[in-house]
Amino acid sequence: MTRSRATDLRRAYALMRARYGHRHWWPGETPFEVCVGAILTQNTSWSNVERAIANLKAADVLEPRRLYALPERRLATLLRPAGYFNVKTRRLRAFLRELVEGYDAALPAWFAGPTPAVRARLLAVKGIGPETADSMLLYAGGHASFVVDAYTRRIFQRHGWCASDATYDHLQQLCVANLNHLPTPRRLDYWQDYHAQLVMVGKDFCRPRRPDCAHCPLHPLLPPGGQPKS
Ligand code: SF4
Repeated sequence: MTRSRATDLRRAYALMRARYGHRHWWPGETPFEVCVGAILTQNTSWSNVERAIANLKAADVLEPRRLYALPERRLATLLRPAGYFNVKTRRLRAFLRELVEGYDAALPAWFAGPTPAVRARLLAVKGIGPETADSMLLYAGGHASFVVDAYTRRIFQRHGWCASDATYDHLQQLCVANLNHLPTPRRLDYWQDYHAQLVMVGKDFCRPRRPDCAHCPLHPLLPPGGQPKS
């Protein structure tokens, strides 16, 4: 008998959670730091982001007004370890402009309202795409907005859970439709940890080449025929 997608996706979480435990994940000591990290992590590793955030902390500017008041060149210098620092400086400043000038630098006010409206507000900021917006919503804003990333896509494709050309929205809707069985407060934690678990599996086992299926917690959920193409 064919298992349903919901059965597979929920079992995947149980298997990953049994291997890794609850991840209590998203690096960042405050919601604002999470937002800054979400913008800086585009196209770079998290260790590079951490170095840039350490620079901001050492300069005592990891606060919306102080960060926005920094001259652009000074901010770019501090963000240099994150790579593409000129682009990220512009993106971060675009977000800060909206936050400081439109919401009195108050992140709770920025995140207030129904999830679709706050998401649209984020997506309207130049340089913030769906993955960045959803990361901010889920890990800084208290909104249950499922995050899809390259790890999610690779794992889902290899297991036959989505088409090879699935869009971000399609993948997100797939997760939302099949992982919506918990009430709101628990769903937020579940989705936060679900994404964190996928990141672990993606890093440890589901590499772009030569995935290590034999040792992966998701091995029992491989499609018939087993080993996917790498
Ligand atoms: S490594 Fe293999 S078993 Fe693990 S998620 Fe990737 S395809 Fe699935």
